[in-house]
Amino acid sequence: MTKQQGRVEVLSPAGNLPSLKAAVENGADAVYFGFRNATNARNFEGLNFNEDEAARGIEFAHKHGVKANVTLNTYPQADNPDIWYKTVDLAARLKADAIILANISLLDYCHKNYPQLPIHLSVQASASNYEAINFFKRHFGITRVILPRVLTVPEIRALREKTDVELEVFAFGGLCVMAEGRCYLSSYTTGVSPNIEGVCSPARAVRFENMGERLRTRLGGVLIAEYGKGEEAAYPTICKGRYHANGQLYHVMEEPSSLNILEMIPQVIEAGVVCLKIEGRQRTKSYVATVTKVMREAVDAYYQDPKGFRVKGSWLRTLNATSEGTTYTLGTYEEAWQ
Ligand code: SF4
Repeated sequence: MTKQQGRVEVLSPAGNLPSLKAAVENGADAVYFGFRNATNARNFEGLNFNEDEAARGIEFAHKHGVKANVTLNTYPQADNPDIWYKTVDLAARLKADAIILANISLLDYCHKNYPQLPIHLSVQASASNYEAINFFKRHFGITRVILPRVLTVPEIRALREKTDVELEVFAFGGLCVMAEGRCYLSSYTTGVSPNIEGVCSPARAVRFENMGERLRTRLGGVLIAEYGKGEEAAYPTICKGRYHANGQLYHVMEEPSSLNILEMIPQVIEAGVVCLKIEGRQRTKSYVATVTKVMREAVDAYYQDPKGFRVKGSWLRTLNATSEGTTYTLGTYEEAWQ
């Protein structure tokens, strides 16, 4: 299947080869994945690709007319930067359709050495205004920016007027409260964070403690939340912990919820974005298949009848089964504040 010209792209996560195939088979226009090291921000145990798997994944995607983008969105460290540069070389050698970068030195290296390889500016670069986006285009030739999850639809529309860099937005998946690319919370209890080691709250630091009627979750030994009977326990991250503050026990920073922009698909597409991204390279093959299929159907339904677009109950029911936490949010897309 080849993407129809001028239509928004459905971009799906792939934490491994089976997930990549599931994304392709369920209607993704493009997939994104990273290598099995600290060069990407989903460096969880058991995830990601080696060179051979990446080559097979790209070949499989291309055979089905689907693009394959390589994610390289962490920051090289002074004592061992080589792996990041070698991964740029590898993405170019494997003929990825685009490389997703955040760090200035990698952007420069890729732009100079592989001018034929399209560069997508990672959300980790936190470029949320047109001056920043155009700066990255001028200096490093980026063709697309993945917008931080802090913008309203009118703000996205306004950006569209001021830059010809393609705009990609998150459409579904887990949410971070961080200013994108700037969160070190995980490192306080586990020693690692997404920015350098590519992982927030690694599974090796997570403990679920059964206390009879109650369940406690810990991260690096720190109590993150305690749940009563029947309450759904969230994966413990510091930002979504339930803490005592001002005499109350509550989610001080953020309640666990997932982004889901299904009902705003028309507004987001009409604001001028070219790509709807599904978050979740750390999630299962079945999550990738399910969410990709729903997003494919929703986008196709929009193009069949843009004015008559309605969210189907079956889409919501299907997505509810994949939710992280118990609620969905439209994130900042519908916020009235500027
Ligand atoms: S601690 Fe929370 S906000 Fe920070 S990276 Fe992890 S999930 Fe995102």
